[in-house]
Amino acid sequence: MLDADFFRRWMAATAASVDREAERLTALDSPIGDADHGSNLQRGFTEVATTLEKEAPDTPGAVLTLAGRRLISTVGGASGPLYGTLLRRTGKALGDAGEVSAEQLAEALRAGVEAVMTLGGAAPGDKTMIDTLVPAVDALGTGFAAARTAAEQGALATTPLQARKGRASYLGERSIGHQDPGATSAALLIAALAEAAGE
Ligand code: ADP
Ligand code: MG
Repeated sequence: MLDADFFRRWMAATAASVDREAERLTALDSPIGDADHGSNLQRGFTEVATTLEKEAPDTPGAVLTLAGRRLISTVGGASGPLYGTLLRRTGKALGDAGEVSAEQLAEALRAGVEAVMTLGGAAPGDKTMIDTLVPAVDALGTGFAAARTAAEQGALATTPLQARKGRASYLGERSIGHQDPGATSAALLIAALAEAAGE
């Protein structure tokens, strides 16, 4: 079973990884965006980590809804409301249980990813974070390590795609040949989940 401590470890591992990879995320956002993805998420997840240390919410659902709220209020770019919605909706789906199973987490994350698709209007193949999150959630039934592999493959597979959503879509065919920054950061989020699970 996964308790609030597991979810706090997930968010802390995400913050550490986004911090390490911020420059790379911003570099990816430079040819097909406005070169702020790394700094956007660094600001957001640093704030998430600080808030979770201070407030220490004691259920899985409360950890994720608080994290999502902080992202929405601190990240200006498109990715703030999208990641914020992902975590808030996932947290809401977990309810107020003190512990949840891996299956419950997989189901809740699916609801979270669907909320991101509703908010942003992106579908798989549009060259966004959705290209990482959908295969990751599909693989989560098999385990955390499988979800991480699927996420990494999903992020890499955005390179040959033409962007149909977000800032990169303004470039049309010129967006082809670049890995999507949001798909890359989504793979960090899923890798941090596997890390929190000790895999
Ligand atoms: P901005 O584009 O406002 O500068 P960021 O650079 O922080 O915001 O985030 C860009 C990332 O957000 C993209 O690489 C993409 O993965 C994701 N993104 C943008 N628009 C959408 C959308 N409508 N649905 C899903 N993800 C999106
Ligand atoms: Mg940007």
